Amino acid sequence: MEIIYQGYHIPINENLLNEMNAWERLGDIIKARIAINGLMLDAKSAYENNILTRETGHVIVNAIERMEFKLQEAWGFSQDASYHSYQDRLCGCTCPWLDNRERYGVDQRIVSGDCPYHSKGE
Ligand SMILES: [Zn+2]
Repeated sequence: MEIIYQGYHIPINENLLNEMNAWERLGDIIKARIAINGLMLDAKSAYENNILTRETGHVIVNAIERMEFKLQEAWGFSQDASYHSYQDRLCGCTCPWLDNRERYGVDQRIVSGDCPYHSKGE
């Protein structure tokens, strides 16, 4: 199944909805996905227009983090940041995607020093 919102296609895994018995929380799942989608587009726009600061990046990644927790809750998964994946796909994120992908489920994210979203340093 695919939700189309403002021209963007948001796939929803129907098998997983059945497996997790999550149909009654579909509205919350869709709301979280739309919010994440919007945040990712904001990030892309800021990055492409060269106005993405570290401060803005942190605000965006924190907002996505909150929505990823809401999404896990809506699906019926335990709230676990080590399974968050949307923030690894932010436009302009310089963290090693594949290395982090391999660490899903492990509380150990590799952060690039120059990433505008994930780097804490100055
Ligand atoms: Zn990053």
